[in-house]
Amino acid sequence: MAAALVAKADGAREVVLNDQRPALEDALTARLLGAGVGLSLGGHPEALFAVADTVVLSPGVPPLDPVEAAAARGVRVIGELELGAWHTRAPVVAITGTNGKSTVTTLVGEMLAASGFDTFVGGNLGTPLCEAVGARALEAEGRCVLEVSSYQLETIVDFRPSVAVWLNLTPDHLDRYGNMAAYGAAKARIFLNQRPEDHAVVPGDDPLMVSFARGSAAQIHTYGAEQSAVKLSEDAIVDAAHGRYRLDALKIRGSHNVGNAMAAVLAARLAGATHEAIAAVLGRFPGLPHRMQFVASVGGVEYFDDSKATNVGAALKALEGTDRPVVLIAGGRDKGGSYEPLVQLLRMKGRGVVTLGEAAPLIESALGGAVPFERAPTMAAAVRTAHRMARAGDCVLLAPACSSLDMYPNYAARGRDFADAVRALEGGSQ
Ligand code: ADP
Repeated sequence: MAAALVAKADGAREVVLNDQRPALEDALTARLLGAGVGLSLGGHPEALFAVADTVVLSPGVPPLDPVEAAAARGVRVIGELELGAWHTRAPVVAITGTNGKSTVTTLVGEMLAASGFDTFVGGNLGTPLCEAVGARALEAEGRCVLEVSSYQLETIVDFRPSVAVWLNLTPDHLDRYGNMAAYGAAKARIFLNQRPEDHAVVPGDDPLMVSFARGSAAQIHTYGAEQSAVKLSEDAIVDAAHGRYRLDALKIRGSHNVGNAMAAVLAARLAGATHEAIAAVLGRFPGLPHRMQFVASVGGVEYFDDSKATNVGAALKALEGTDRPVVLIAGGRDKGGSYEPLVQLLRMKGRGVVTLGEAAPLIESALGGAVPFERAPTMAAAVRTAHRMARAGDCVLLAPACSSLDMYPNYAARGRDFADAVRALEGGSQ
């Protein structure tokens, strides 16, 4: 939508919005037709793509034959992010990685805004960049902080972040990429157009990230290792160029979040944030919903919603961060990776596992006899089963290691369903 309106405002003679759905909501249809955008619904006609000068893809669109055929004939194919970037004069901080993108993007955005910059925060999170075209934050004095996914990076051409942050790479989206090399190569495009005056930020203790950054023409800065620009002392995050931030003032919890905070401290400083603003944001940012969010305590059992743990790497961090026996609720739509790393931790900490959704049989076969498990047909049933398995002092953790798309429109809906089920339990036990 946003891209179609930008293309129209740019003076494209004819803009057609294509969607597989047979109809759009009335308000959207009225807005598009009112702006002079044509509609082509109910499929992806080859002829439509063949006559285009430019095709602009939404991030989630999988490879499509008509698009590939058009590209092979010389039609320019770009993503919505690229189109938005053509209209951005502000320095761009772009953040990618398998996990932690939204957390770091939000932190950096708040740090720059608190430093007095007109700041846009969005991309793969919240508002698409094209929706901000024309806003003051995208002018030269502003700042543009973007979460960028591997899908979005596949379709960039000239997109060039002043500060490019790559947090980590663990198995995810293998249903789309087939292997880790292809997934990593898509993410590495974040450095593609960087120049020597730009900055690449990666974790210093991750040789793979460091070696990808060496492929960038930008200056490389690392965090979290002995030789890094930003690292840990006993009680603080220390930025040699900018000062210290006490760990006990940090609101977000867990070792992965300390890493996220270091990445944000470094990226925000490189983009011009002040020490005071960085310290203030670290001291007040409580974390995003559905990331290890405490829901309630029922009968001495604490319930945590980490619905955003949509891959094994994120679910592992959630398990690592719990210091008592845990009943894990996991499952959903499988992404083609292995659940084996979870099993090792569950052997030590797992009171039991409740499996859900399409991936339930895969998780159960990975578990074997390691911990007791039961399958549940719905989230409400899963929560009741987990409550039965747990003992006072344990915790119940929703960290599905899978996408939600087999049962829900998105991870947030799954998290809300979990929280509702926990509250129903609370009502019942009272
Ligand atoms: P993303 O936008 O990349 O999905 P989020 O900040 O939304 O990242 O976090 C997604 C999930 O990953 C959450 O379950 C969170 O607890 C976990 N997580 C956050 N940061 C990291 C990290 N650096 N390493 C591993 N897991 C993380």
